[in-house]
Amino acid sequence: VAEIKVGVGLVHYPVVDKNGKIIAASLTPTDLHDLARSARTYGVERFWIISPLTDQQKLAGRMIGFWQMGVGADYNPNRGEALELIRVVEDLEAAVAGANRCWGEKPLVWATRAGGGGPWLGFGQARQVLNQKRPVLVIFGTAWGLAPEALNLCDAVLAPIEGRDGYNHLSVRSAAAVVLDRLLGRSLGDGE
Ligand code: SAM
Repeated sequence: VAEIKVGVGLVHYPVVDKNGKIIAASLTPTDLHDLARSARTYGVERFWIISPLTDQQKLAGRMIGFWQMGVGADYNPNRGEALELIRVVEDLEAAVAGANRCWGEKPLVWATRAGGGGPWLGFGQARQVLNQKRPVLVIFGTAWGLAPEALNLCDAVLAPIEGRDGYNHLSVRSAAAVVLDRLLGRSLGDGE
């Protein structure tokens, strides 16, 4: 798992609102904390926060600083360690460029969606690609999800996570944890 080259991106623009209009979403501090902790747990090397809004970029910087250098660092050093993975960039292209610098090779970019129609990349196939050490950037949306402009920049869309019936309203934090476990989790714990 350690050699796998994978990063995650949380896109705040371009995403859509409930009417399908393209918007820039505000940062949700819990998203940063929870995605960073999931990323650190599953061996993800970088977590790009993608927002063109300078006030939101500064907010992310302040949050990270608090847990890495402020009172928070003494209170809970594990948080600082997870937040170290974060890089704040203005757009998806900058995240791809960052991944390229990180691994010396342009990453594949995989989108995540709750629905919308295929074709999908299944998780079994996705794990095979990762095991071949291809660098991959997995992106998640905020608000009502990734806008078509963002999806068009992706090489594939991962199969949506499905529950037991038609209800499918996961938060991005929960969806990211499930996606990372499917892509990178070591076992189902049955002792196989
Ligand atoms: N209707 C939106 C969509 O189709 O993605 C839901 C947006 S959801 C509130 C925010 C983000 O969480 C999505 O952009 C996606 O990254 C992730 N997400 C939520 N549910 C998901 C699911 N069932 N499968 C995969 N990703 C999901």
